[in-house]
Amino acid sequence: MSDKQYVFFFGESERSDKALLGGKGAGLNEMTRIGIPVPSGFTISTEACNAFNELGKRFPKGLTAQVETSLKRLEEKAGKEFGSSEKPLLVSVRSGAKISMPGMMDTVLNLGLNEESIHGIIKQIGNRRFAYDAYRRFIQMFGNVVLGIPSNRFEQVLEDVKEKRRVRLDTELTAEDLEEVATSFKEIVKEETGEFFPEEPMKQLYMAIEAVFNSWNNERAIVYRRLHNIPSNLGTAVNVQTMVFGNMGADSGTGVGFTRNPSTGEKEFYGEYLMNAQGEDVVAGIRTPKHIGDLKKEMPDVYEKLTRIYEKLEKHYRDMQDIEFTIEKGRLCLLQTRTGKRTAAAAVRIATEMVSEGLISKEEAVMRIEPERLDQLLHKTIEPSAKYDVIARGLPASPGAAEGEAVFTSDKAEELGKEGKKVILVRTETSPEDIHGMAAAQGILTARGGMTSHAAVVARGMGKCCIAGCEDIRVNEAKGHFSAGERVVKEGELITLNGSTGEVILGGVRLVEPELKGDLQTILSWADGIRSLGVRANADIPRDAKAAKRFGAEGIGLCRTEHMFFEEDRLPIVREMILADTEAARRTALDKLLPMQKADFIGLFKEMQGLPVTIRLLDPPLHEFLPKREELMVEVALLKAKRGDKDLKEKECLLARVEDLHEFNPMLGFRGCRLGIVYPEISEMQARAIFEAACELKKQGLDVKPEVMIPVVQSDHEVKLAKEIVDKVASDVMKKYGVKLKYAVGTMIELPRACVTADRIAEHAEFFSFGTNDLTQTTLGFSRDDAGRFIRHYLDKGLLEKDPFAVLDQDGVGRLVRIAVKKGRKTRQNLKIGICGEHGGEPSSVEFCHRTGLDYVSCSPYRVPIARLAAAQAKLKES
Ligand code: ADP
Ligand code: MG
Ligand code: MG
Repeated sequence: MSDKQYVFFFGESERSDKALLGGKGAGLNEMTRIGIPVPSGFTISTEACNAFNELGKRFPKGLTAQVETSLKRLEEKAGKEFGSSEKPLLVSVRSGAKISMPGMMDTVLNLGLNEESIHGIIKQIGNRRFAYDAYRRFIQMFGNVVLGIPSNRFEQVLEDVKEKRRVRLDTELTAEDLEEVATSFKEIVKEETGEFFPEEPMKQLYMAIEAVFNSWNNERAIVYRRLHNIPSNLGTAVNVQTMVFGNMGADSGTGVGFTRNPSTGEKEFYGEYLMNAQGEDVVAGIRTPKHIGDLKKEMPDVYEKLTRIYEKLEKHYRDMQDIEFTIEKGRLCLLQTRTGKRTAAAAVRIATEMVSEGLISKEEAVMRIEPERLDQLLHKTIEPSAKYDVIARGLPASPGAAEGEAVFTSDKAEELGKEGKKVILVRTETSPEDIHGMAAAQGILTARGGMTSHAAVVARGMGKCCIAGCEDIRVNEAKGHFSAGERVVKEGELITLNGSTGEVILGGVRLVEPELKGDLQTILSWADGIRSLGVRANADIPRDAKAAKRFGAEGIGLCRTEHMFFEEDRLPIVREMILADTEAARRTALDKLLPMQKADFIGLFKEMQGLPVTIRLLDPPLHEFLPKREELMVEVALLKAKRGDKDLKEKECLLARVEDLHEFNPMLGFRGCRLGIVYPEISEMQARAIFEAACELKKQGLDVKPEVMIPVVQSDHEVKLAKEIVDKVASDVMKKYGVKLKYAVGTMIELPRACVTADRIAEHAEFFSFGTNDLTQTTLGFSRDDAGRFIRHYLDKGLLEKDPFAVLDQDGVGRLVRIAVKKGRKTRQNLKIGICGEHGGEPSSVEFCHRTGLDYVSCSPYRVPIARLAAAQAKLKES
């Protein structure tokens, strides 16, 4: 049996298979095949790397023979010989995995140089200085990359020689100087490794190949793979390629380019080059490269060839390419091509323009854009060229950028907000009582809490930027300042947050507005034409509803009525209602709330103009509306000390009620539909507000589609009871207004018991909406507010793949969802089903919802475009 083929000559693999040849190798192979000039070479496959590692770092059988045969072919093609003192062949050894990965071994150039071949190079080029410059670079590169000797060992020697010669730049050194440097470099190698620098070119080559294979499992690479979910069994390929020299004089050079502008997407060749330079010089920043346009003047022929080549490459790959090229004495060749990285804005523009150029289909264009990256375009961002002073870093909890005066209490935020000032709310952490301050602020900064902390979730919902868990800062709310290291920022000082990166910036920075127009609008309309999953938004107030519609929401999937209760003018009445001892007293308070709630709903219905609006009845535990127990205790103690204060009695009553309502585990406590079961009059008031608002508008000729949703349901009995209340109020109100109105009553599905009894629940519920935030809490038994502390460890140890509060846990929570969908639809065939948790705007969760047969997802208004795109991609992936 013949040995497995591990070595592939450029251009001889029929499929340019990235998994086998690595990205770089596949590109070199493909370019050779389509007739683009590429220095010849060969690729050692990823399979060889895997075999090497499996065999305990030994080359698999047949590999060396194949390498030697291929090298012979290179020599013949070039008419040169490895190690020759007349016409030596030099090669580069380049690593390249399927997915490009920092951490892999750096490229070694000019391999094959030794005390013999250096003379060949001098003869060939007729330039001693050039030859020794290449030689000392090779020894350093090989010493560093292959032998692991720190670069500064070499650089120090170079500095010493320069000092001795009293010159500042490398370029001022003579051939003799460089020869001396090369000799000293070899001594360093001997010192550091105990062995002589390998003179034998074949030995150099095998050492370099081994080093590439080993770099697959170096620490940097392992960490990178873990962070980016790259499987560790891919292996890396090695490319061995004939050297071309961009540093052979004024008619040589090297450069890089993008076939379109990678930051704007504009159709223009975008690149840089340097004459008389090699490889990394362009990106190393030692010399300032020239704009590619200058090449047109400098070498018109070459420029013209380059243009034809890049156009051909883009047509061939049907995507924007990122290329490397070298000019050796006027002869142009390509050294690399790959799909170019681009900003979100560029991705959108390139995809739409390629459709109009007939290069790709609309479906491909829709598939080309990573939904998550649209986020970059939907919030204010920092002007790309702006310079700024970062004083701390936290978690990038909600994207976008904002500037404003630092404030430390929600009341202050609101007060200044009303004056039209821009503020940033800075707190150690936030709680539901901070809603009004968060609403008034441009952005939120907290010292504690994770990506799913209260601040983060609420800020994302509001589409405001937020940096959470910024442990670099200490917040002193009482004194009104925060410190970041040595710096102290006082109330009123201007700061800027970049919620996309987590940077806290001192002072103001120029910001750019988001827009949903032009190419983005076009892509999204194509997505709408493709998807079958509906997309709604979570919106509590008319302003959010407006944003939701602007971003293309087809209804409101979740209106959380409690957010209306937190408004400043309502809170005292809400408290009065909670503190009431009797039903009568409670009803008096509720009567005062009724017109306010009604006004809220009128606003929402008007904004949504006939689109469905799902309103959830009151959900949170009542104590959230009351002052904090500990604070009250302090106040009472202080008043007691003063003795005889008239407020004392009142505060004591309040404290007693707060104690009464105190719960050890509020998330599993007196909340959701349980509130309405104990106090039906609360549900009645809310239902009345909804239907009076709806009937009133209907009378005025407006179309209204209310959907009333019962939260935290675990049994059909609860739904039946709640629905009876709602239906009764609905029929009363309709009679009173003399109008007929279509409405629906349904439930949130957010407890495991509700999932497994969904068939019975569906007997009463006319729709389901999965509240996957709570369903995740109750399924995993992780409290969202406390889990931040340990989820990180779960992620680090690989016990969890993703944060289940950000990405739907399809194996667990998802299974329950599937059960509930199946059971629900068994009872009620066309049961409308949606999802309204945070997951509704997360692409992989959206795809799950599509596959599971949900009718719609509902997410924060600012994520609606992301969900529209993700839903279209889910549909396309299906076929
Ligand atoms: P990276 O993955 O870091 O881009 P590359 O393997 O592409 O590494 O190589 C680094 C630099 O060396 C690039 O500028 C590349 O163009 C140049 N280079 C690589 N091989 C050769 C070669 N055979 N001749 C000339 N330059 C080369
Ligand atoms: Mg490269
Ligand atoms: Mg819930």
